[in-house]
Amino acid sequence: MTGSLSGLPGISIIDDSAGEAAVASVRRPASPEAAEANGGPVEAKVVIVGSGPAGLTAAIYAARANLEPVVLAGYVPGGQLMITSDVENYPGFPGGVQGPELMSLFREQAARFGTRLVDVDVDRVDLSSRPFRLWAAGVEYRAQALIVASGASALWLGLESETRLRGKGVSACATCDGFFFRGKKVAVVGGGDTALEEATFLTRFASEVVLIHRRGDFRASKIMRDRALAHPQISVRWHSAIEEVKGDQVVTGLTLRDTRTGKLTDEAVDGLFVAIGYRPNTEVFRDWLEVDERGYLVVRDETGSRIEGVFIAGDVHDHRYRQAVTAAGDGCRAAIDAERWLETVEPVTPVAAPAPAVAAPSVA
Ligand code: NAP
Repeated sequence: MTGSLSGLPGISIIDDSAGEAAVASVRRPASPEAAEANGGPVEAKVVIVGSGPAGLTAAIYAARANLEPVVLAGYVPGGQLMITSDVENYPGFPGGVQGPELMSLFREQAARFGTRLVDVDVDRVDLSSRPFRLWAAGVEYRAQALIVASGASALWLGLESETRLRGKGVSACATCDGFFFRGKKVAVVGGGDTALEEATFLTRFASEVVLIHRRGDFRASKIMRDRALAHPQISVRWHSAIEEVKGDQVVTGLTLRDTRTGKLTDEAVDGLFVAIGYRPNTEVFRDWLEVDERGYLVVRDETGSRIEGVFIAGDVHDHRYRQAVTAAGDGCRAAIDAERWLETVEPVTPVAAPAPAVAAPSVA
């Protein structure tokens, strides 16, 4: 099904009948030529980078405050929820909701109030003065205020079988998906705090948790190590790397390789949780904003940063909670802070009226 949102020309909703994620996009210049033809850079009161729960909640709040935000949503919009199947802990959905569907609803809600969504990755930024300047797909965006909500990405092993079975027994979030493994045997790969925390958490549901670690010693903190090693439901396969995740439709087991001898063994499991770390998506901001020792952005005064007018929301700074609902709350706070801050400062250049639609950035 394809339709349009009434009163908002240029917004298209694509909702395929197979039930895949519905997506909404606002037609805006995506090439330098198109931007030039429309009078130069795209000017905005607020630019939001990222289209997960933090970015889109910020967009809903900013749009309802008449700030006409532009969301640079990424070539793969929607954030980590796009690779999560059932979401059962997001309030308001007593029957649960599919991650992509939830993000589609966020997007539709943001678009309804006048958010301009562009599915492009940010290549470069210049935050040396206002308006802040960002470049994406060759187009320059100028922002009076900026909200960075670019999220964090779970690291994956990089196996073809792991990618194929994602959402079918392979997960990177025990909090999200542990519930589905009640009474089953699951594996967790990794040897850091995340892996041990996930393994311990999973014992609430799974009958047996096997920790797979490539070395003979955990890097996790002592308390987490002691807790996991003492747990009767947790066992460890030391010096083990995952060679393959087995299963056609769902995970049925793992092929493990002994990292010392190369010997292959099979381990029957119903699920695999990959917990080998996260990478906050901060690359383009690192020269401008403060990052902590783990690479996450450092927040000042609730949602601020070291640059006035640049706000931060969601997993790009939060390595503690990492939940859709906490990210959404953070996006709300950042948008309110941006709105209040904008009221206290003069715009440095007049914000141009939105350019007419000329080209549509594609939505996959
Ligand atoms: P981490 O400390 O970097 O640990 C990653 C683990 O995954 C390591 O054991 C590493 O093995 C393993 N690994 C990495 N790449 C791998 C691969 N390709 N194949 C197999 N194994 C691989 O990451 P983290 O556990 O997510 O923790 C990140 C930070 O958050 C840490 O500072 C941690 O203390 C903190 N954290 C704290 C808490 C808490 O306090 N409650 C909870 C979670 C995380 P090697 O050991 O061999 O390198």
